[in-house]
Amino acid sequence: MEEKNRTSELEQQKKKLTFECPKCGGNAIFEHLVNYENIYVFEDGEIEPGDEWYESDEVEYSCADCFWTIVDEGDFIIRDEPSLIRWLRNQPKAPMPASSEMGDGDGQVKWECDPQDDIPDLESGQLRFVCPKCGGEQLDDVNHTATYVFFFEDGSVEYGKAYGGDYEHFRCNACRWILEDEEHGQFDEPEILVSWLQANCDQSR
Ligand SMILES: [Zn+2]
Ligand SMILES: [Zn+2]
Repeated sequence: MEEKNRTSELEQQKKKLTFECPKCGGNAIFEHLVNYENIYVFEDGEIEPGDEWYESDEVEYSCADCFWTIVDEGDFIIRDEPSLIRWLRNQPKAPMPASSEMGDGDGQVKWECDPQDDIPDLESGQLRFVCPKCGGEQLDDVNHTATYVFFFEDGSVEYGKAYGGDYEHFRCNACRWILEDEEHGQFDEPEILVSWLQANCDQSR
C-alpha cells in the first residue's frame, strides 16, 4: 500500500508540463542552439565572414511544428529553462489572439536594438545592407540546431531527438529582424539575399 503511494507520488512529480502553441496549437517544443556571425555579402553571391564570430551562447525555444519562437509577456525571447518553466506553468490555455498582441505585428520577436556605429567601408562588389526596421547596417548569418525538449512539473528537463538538419536565416545584427518577404518567407539562400539587397537597399556609392 505504502509502496503504491510512493509510486504515484513519483509519477506526480514527473508530470510533463504541457505546451500549446498559440500560433498553431502544436504541443512539442524545440530547444535551439543559435550560432551567428557577421557577414559581408557580394554581388556575385559570395558571402564572407565579418569580424565577429559567436559560439552557441544563445538559446531559444520554439514550437516544433511552426517554429514560433517562445517569448515572454513583453515579447522578449525566453532563453533559459527556469523562465520557460515559469512561462509553461502560466501560459494561457486558449490560443492568443492574432498578431496585434503577438510581437510588433509581423510575427517577429523584439530585441533591445543596438546598432553598431563602426561599420567598415564597403569593399568593391560588396552589397550594402540597411535594415528597414532600424537602419542598422550589420547583417548576421544565423544557424540553428534544434532538439526536442520536455519539461516536467519537478523542474527536470529531458531531451528527445534532434531536428533533422540545421537551418539558417539572415537577420539584422542590431534589432534581430529576420530578413523575409512575401514570396520566400525567411531567406535561406544567398541568391535570395543578394536580389533582396539589390532591390531594397541603396547600393549607390
Ligand atoms: Zn506552432
Ligand atoms: Zn534592424
